[in-house]
Amino acid sequence: MNSPATQAPPTPRVLSNPKEATASRPDWLNISVIATIHLAAIFAIVYMSAIHFSWWTVGLGLLWFGCCGLGITGGYHRSFSHPAHRAHWPLRLFYLLFGAASVQNSALKWSADHRRHHAFTDDVKDPYNIRRGFWWAHIGWVLTNGAGANFSNVRDLEKDPLVRFQHRFYVPLAILMGVVVPFALGLIWGDPWGAVLVAGFLRLVIQWHATFAVNSVAHTFGEPSYNFANSARDSFLTVLITLGEGYHSFHHRFPLDYRNGHRWYHLDPTKWVIWVGSKIGLASQLRRTPAARVAEALREQAEPQPQRKAG
Ligand SMILES: [Zn+2]
Ligand SMILES: [Zn+2]
Repeated sequence: MNSPATQAPPTPRVLSNPKEATASRPDWLNISVIATIHLAAIFAIVYMSAIHFSWWTVGLGLLWFGCCGLGITGGYHRSFSHPAHRAHWPLRLFYLLFGAASVQNSALKWSADHRRHHAFTDDVKDPYNIRRGFWWAHIGWVLTNGAGANFSNVRDLEKDPLVRFQHRFYVPLAILMGVVVPFALGLIWGDPWGAVLVAGFLRLVIQWHATFAVNSVAHTFGEPSYNFANSARDSFLTVLITLGEGYHSFHHRFPLDYRNGHRWYHLDPTKWVIWVGSKIGLASQLRRTPAARVAEALREQAEPQPQRKAG
């Protein structure tokens, strides 16, 4: 079933000075974990090139990259943060398990941050405000203690027992899906540690920077094709590494659309998976923006644009 994804047209807002943002302190736990996993990813490359190479292990790494990527793009983003489609429980479970292995917080915390990003894009309450700088939006905000967790905007998600379960057991689930399961699968072809290094750590570091690029690259480079009111851009580089999340100008204009690349030929594997899921009973209520609304947005974008003001 399709239902229209309607949103109000964008209006440029007066933005606060980014220096007014809450002072943030280094989060030494996050810094240590992220630094250690980067070192493990470098060791994974050394391991594969100088110690032991297995195509099975490479295949597992690619499979985990795809599944964990979908956990974030289809799950955390297009199902939990924005109700762009309804995922039935087996698909929600898939999203939550592989989302945990993506080590980007629980779906609840991720969605709370992301809804704030859409509600306050480019302003002080945007957790990854690009106006605080490219590296802040990319990874700086992850390495610091901000204002703390605030779940007031995800009360709807708290009603889902699967979401609550994943939030409560997020760390054990991340270790299970990111380390234990790859290790067990690697035992089948005699390369368990290679499987952990490649499908666990190397995959994770690549996936982190791909996801982070949506907040940094896709808010800096590319075309504001559908939305002059904020910094979101359609960035093909980001499209290539994020299973379709780089059509970010379109997404900020029509965040309830299950597609980020709305044209049939747009490279958006996430929308194809959701569409296939709807054909086999795993997803329903896929929301699409009517073509006339998209055309209207493009027409508006072609008109002279008002200047943004910074406070
Ligand atoms: Zn954005
Ligand atoms: Zn979004």
